[in-house]
Amino acid sequence: MRVLSVASEAFPLIKTGGLADVVGALPVALAPLGVEVRTLLPGYPAVIAAIKGTETVHRWQELFGGSASLIAGEAGMRKLLVLDAPHLFNRPGNPYVDADGRDWPDNAERFAALALVAAEIGGGLLGAYVPDVVHAHDWQAALVPAYLRFGRLAVPHSHVPATMLTVHNLAFQGQFPPSLLEKLHLPPQAFTMDGVEYYGRIGFLKGGLALADHITTVSPTYAMEIQGPEMGMGLDGLLRHRAGALTGILNGVDTDIWNPEADEHLAARYDVHRLQSRKRNKAAVRRQFGLMDDDSGPLVAVISRLTWQKGMDLLLTALPRLLAEGGQLALLGAGEAALEADLTAAAARYPGRVGIVLGYDEKLSHLLQGGADAILVPSRFEPCGLTQLYGLRYGTVPIVARVGGLADTVIDANDAAIAAGVATGFQFTPVTVDALGAALTRAARVFQSPTTWRSMQERGMATDVSWLRPAKQYADIYTALSHRRRK
Ligand code: ADP
Repeated sequence: MRVLSVASEAFPLIKTGGLADVVGALPVALAPLGVEVRTLLPGYPAVIAAIKGTETVHRWQELFGGSASLIAGEAGMRKLLVLDAPHLFNRPGNPYVDADGRDWPDNAERFAALALVAAEIGGGLLGAYVPDVVHAHDWQAALVPAYLRFGRLAVPHSHVPATMLTVHNLAFQGQFPPSLLEKLHLPPQAFTMDGVEYYGRIGFLKGGLALADHITTVSPTYAMEIQGPEMGMGLDGLLRHRAGALTGILNGVDTDIWNPEADEHLAARYDVHRLQSRKRNKAAVRRQFGLMDDDSGPLVAVISRLTWQKGMDLLLTALPRLLAEGGQLALLGAGEAALEADLTAAAARYPGRVGIVLGYDEKLSHLLQGGADAILVPSRFEPCGLTQLYGLRYGTVPIVARVGGLADTVIDANDAAIAAGVATGFQFTPVTVDALGAALTRAARVFQSPTTWRSMQERGMATDVSWLRPAKQYADIYTALSHRRRK
């Protein structure tokens, strides 16, 4: 089984969020199942610098305004195809926005180019390499099925692969003015309700949702939620229409990278039998976040993009409830300027109790998981969420909103669950300041009972958060799709 995975980011080459973790980890998890994945990525400087064993396998004189080439190579265990189009991708920093945080004005062309090239490869551009399935991730890759259906591909279709689209976050849809249609090499017949047209504009994600053979999203609960108006972000009607081809598959985590026994970013490594070693990590966290040495309440960590989705404004208002129980907050994040300012002010207001580090710091995120008592994820919506999974693996008890993948991965410590010995964390609903505050209080009270807390840590660490099960689910869908295509 050959799968071409297409995405705008992949760990460890380029990452802004969970999408990269999934795109990076899935190929490694699928290999033992006989699925050979190649990943097509844009040739950002960081990607070009990281690939090894390169060979140019195709050239274009002109691709969306400049010359381009397709480079085959490897990064670690991952086989890559990289679209080296300097006029589109040779820009440092974040893949989507300029230094001032504004979307690049040519994002439509940049990611249309990525999808078009994926469709070309799917159609047989590389001759010897023909994927059975092209698996597109998020809006940046979502035009693949549209190009296979409507595009004037350079090579005549010697082959039509099956297509799959995974939605990592329905909030990012890639909508652009209809005047771009021709520039994106899409014919007028693509601009219909069954194609890429979306309320008079071109919708990249919408087109993918309408045309892909199969759609997945990253948790079963999110798969249900997005079929309703509250979380459907305007696409719930289409998603209900496609419900028969929509599956929720939970993300796993890369258990080699996220392994407290071997994590080189920790001050002290540990396993479930040596949880006391976490104290050294906690001390290191406190040093880095300027927190005082006081264990009267739990040290709660947040590792997050700072946006409305992530509920950081709710946290700011609920914070006194945590502090009243003797708790502390260590927050690592970057995002909206107003939230960054408010969080900075909170750290100044509660010195030694609230510490924040603004920015993106992979190493520090590992240390936080290895040292904090709890990891808080108060999202208003959350397709899967990864930090609570890392928390389970690291014995960092998750406190989460009961939405999306957070609902599917944490077992709430209600009285029955504690009595039955199955609780792994704390959930709250609805996603309000009050419910969040109550959950923080509840967690702080359970923290006062070290045996209960410890057994929750142990159960979290015993939870299977690996890619084993999800990889099998992806492989089964690939198989079903490619069989259907052959018939
Ligand atoms: P999303 O993809 O919506 O941002 P996820 O929870 O799915 O949320 O994934 C977030 C990923 O990014 C996790 O791997 C998390 O550890 C990481 N992350 C988020 N913010 C930061 C940060 N400021 N520094 C380091 N890692 C971060």
